[in-house]
Amino acid sequence: MPEKLSEEMSERLEAVRLNYEEITQAIAGAAVQSGRKPEDITFLAATKTVEPAVINYAVSLGLRCIGENKVQELLSKYDEYDLAHCDLQFIGHLQTNKVRQIVGKVSMIQSVDSLRLAQEIDRQSAKNGIITDVLAEVNIGREENKSGVFAEALEELLKQMSELHHIKVRGLMTIPPVCDRKADVCKFFDRMHELFIDISAKTLDNVNMDFLSMGMSDDFTEAIQSGANMVRIGSKLFGARIYR
Ligand SMILES: *Cc1c(COP(=O)(O)O)cnc(C)c1O
Repeated sequence: MPEKLSEEMSERLEAVRLNYEEITQAIAGAAVQSGRKPEDITFLAATKTVEPAVINYAVSLGLRCIGENKVQELLSKYDEYDLAHCDLQFIGHLQTNKVRQIVGKVSMIQSVDSLRLAQEIDRQSAKNGIITDVLAEVNIGREENKSGVFAEALEELLKQMSELHHIKVRGLMTIPPVCDRKADVCKFFDRMHELFIDISAKTLDNVNMDFLSMGMSDDFTEAIQSGANMVRIGSKLFGARIYR
C-alpha cells in the first residue's frame, strides 16, 4: 500500500496541478496569438531544487520535458526521474570536466558557448557511440560574467561545431538580462529571434534551427510572442525555490 501523502505534500501537488494548467493555457494562448499551434511550443520545466516525487507528479499531468542546471543535482536525482515519460535536458552552465558525467544521460545540452565545451561533448559522445543534441547559448545582453557566446561570434562557433560529428546543433538558447520593464526584455527576445532566422537562412551543414529556447516564469508569453518555441519554467510551476 502506498503511504498516505502528508497534508503538506497534497497541497503542494494540488498547487502544481493548478499551475500546470494555467501555464499550458498561457502557452497555448501565446502560441495562437503568434500564429502557431500550442503543440509547436515545448514546455520544459526547470527542476532545480525540486524533489523527484514532485517532478514526476508534473510528468503524470502531461509534462514531457525537464531540465536541470547542476550536474551534481542531476546525478543525485537521476534514478528517480520518470524518464519513460519525459525527456531530460541540461540547461545550466557546464564545466568541461563534468561533461562525461552527463553525456548519454541527457537528450540535449542547451548551454554550449565555446568550441572547447562542444569538442568535449563530441569526444564523450563518440566514446558512447551516440550523437548528442546541443543548443548554442547566446549572451544576448553582452553581460560580463554571464555564460553564452556574443552574437557576433555565434556564426563562427556554429561553423566550428558543425564539423564535430557526434554533436548536432538544434538551435539557440538565451537568458536575457534582468529587465524592470517587459518592453526591454522583449527587445532582447526579438534580437534573438532575428539571429535565429538569420542562421536558419544560412543553412549550415549539420546545424538545424529547430529550437529557440527563451522565456522563463516571468516572461514566457512575451518570449513566445517574439518567436520562442521552447520555454523553461521553474518557479511558476513548482513555487518559489527553497535552497537547502
Ligand atoms: C531556473 C532556470 C529557469 C527557470 O527560472 P524561473 O524563473 O524559476 O522560471 C530557466 N532557465 C534556466 C537555465 C534556469 O536555470
